[in-house]
Parts: sequence; structure tokens; C-alpha cells
Amino acid sequence: MKVLVPVKRVIDYNVKIRVKPDGTGVETQNVKMSMNPFDEISIEEAVRLKEAGIATDVVAVSMGPKQCTETIRTALAMGADRGVHVLTDDALEPLAVAKAMKALAEKEQPQLIIVGKQAIDDDSNQTGQMTSALLGWSQACFASVLKVEGDKATVTREVDGGLETVNITMPAVVTVDLRLNEPRYASLPNIMKAKKKPIEEVTPADLGVDTTPRLAVLNVAEPPKREGGGKVADVQELVSKLMSEAKVI
Ligand code: AMP
Repeated sequence: MKVLVPVKRVIDYNVKIRVKPDGTGVETQNVKMSMNPFDEISIEEAVRLKEAGIATDVVAVSMGPKQCTETIRTALAMGADRGVHVLTDDALEPLAVAKAMKALAEKEQPQLIIVGKQAIDDDSNQTGQMTSALLGWSQACFASVLKVEGDKATVTREVDGGLETVNITMPAVVTVDLRLNEPRYASLPNIMKAKKKPIEEVTPADLGVDTTPRLAVLNVAEPPKREGGGKVADVQELVSKLMSEAKVI
């Protein structure tokens, strides 16, 4: 079974995000970039399926500028077999990524696509769902347990107030949640080995994908600054402030 795993290059989760002064987006120049944390979980799950003898081939796919090869190399160091880089400097919306994934799925014929539930930069939470809809494949989102048996998979999903378990038939798209697994750190020997693994380069045009944005960003702004708290002398003062200043009672 071949598994396709998209891995997005995003601003590292430890970086304090700065909004551009003109409000068109956030600063990405000279900022540390890393693999989207949910995609580390997807790669880990695909590699575990391979180690369990269920998957035969794990293909990591990243779409974006040339530096995305670094993200693919990280996936290869974690255990993916090969990479595909969809090279473009265009800003990509989830629909364009999903169309490219569809084209790659038609070419590569995987049985399973494991997608991060969301990218931590734009928080869209759309790509996996759109990919399965475009392909007409089964879909299970927010997986916290994934068990593959033959052409079926059982997925436990985190839903409001509990866990839902669903059965899906392959081929399928599964999006992963935080508690599915704990991704491994790539060891030095595996980082060295990853340098020799192949990365194929294609463009959106090669895949017949039009990346023209469908959405216009009107403005990006920082959240309002938090005001410091204050101390009150007694309950009476608290109640009076809640009534006259906060106006919540
Ligand atoms: P989103 O729908 O933007 O929140 O992204 C959800 C998931 O789609 C991510 O966790 C990735 O697995 C995948 N994805 C989105 N954009 C890209 C990209 N440019 N390259 C590779 N994978 C992507």
C-alpha cells in the first residue's frame, strides 16, 4: 500500500508572529520555518504503517518555494521513502493544494493520503476535506487512532464530548489530530541517509493546476493588546467595577 503525505512549510510554532506594517500578511522573511506540526504526526503515522508491514511506500509531498525541499528532507529523515516537490512561488490556497494532491493521487495511485488536520499558519482546516471530495474518496477527519486492515480502516475521531469510531473503505483521506502519536526525532544517520533519497520536482502547470487565488485578503491585524489586571480592595468594589466599568452585571 502506498501512502501519500503532504507536508507544509510554515513559520515555526515557537516564533512570535509579526504582522507586516501594511496589513497584507505576516512577516516570513528571516523567520525560522519548519514542518507544520500536524504533518510531523502524519509522517510518523505513515512510517509506523510501513514499519508494521502495512505500507510499502511513503511519499512526502510539499508545495511551495524551493526551500520546501528542506521540509521534504525532514520527512525523508523521519522515514519517508521519497519526495515530490510541487515548485511554485505563488501563494497557495487549500483548493489549489487539494487539486494538486488529486493530480498526484491519480498519478501515484496511493491507497491512503494522510493529511494534517490544519496548517498552523492559515488555520484553514480544508485541504484534506477538499482532496477527498475532489477524488470522491472516503474521508475521516481528526483521527486520534488509525487501524488499517486490508482495504478497510477504522478511525477513532475526537468529537465534542467524546470519541467517535468510523469504518472507511480505501482509497481514503485521513486527517490527523494531535493525540494520534508522538513524532520521532530524526537521528543523525537517518538525516544523512535522507540526503540520498530522491525528490521529484514538478510544477502546478505540469499537474494541470491553476493556482490563481479565489480569495482576497482584506486585512491582517494583530489582536488587541491585553490590558493588565488590577487589584480591588473588597467585594463591594469588585461588584461596582463589574457593573460600571466591565458592564457584565
Ligand atoms: P489547511 O487546510 O491549509 O489548514 O492545511 C491542512 C493540511 O493540508 C496541512 O497540514 C498539510 O498536510 C496540507 N497542506 C496544506 N498546504 C500545503 C502545502 N503548501 N504543501 C503541502 N501540504 C499542504
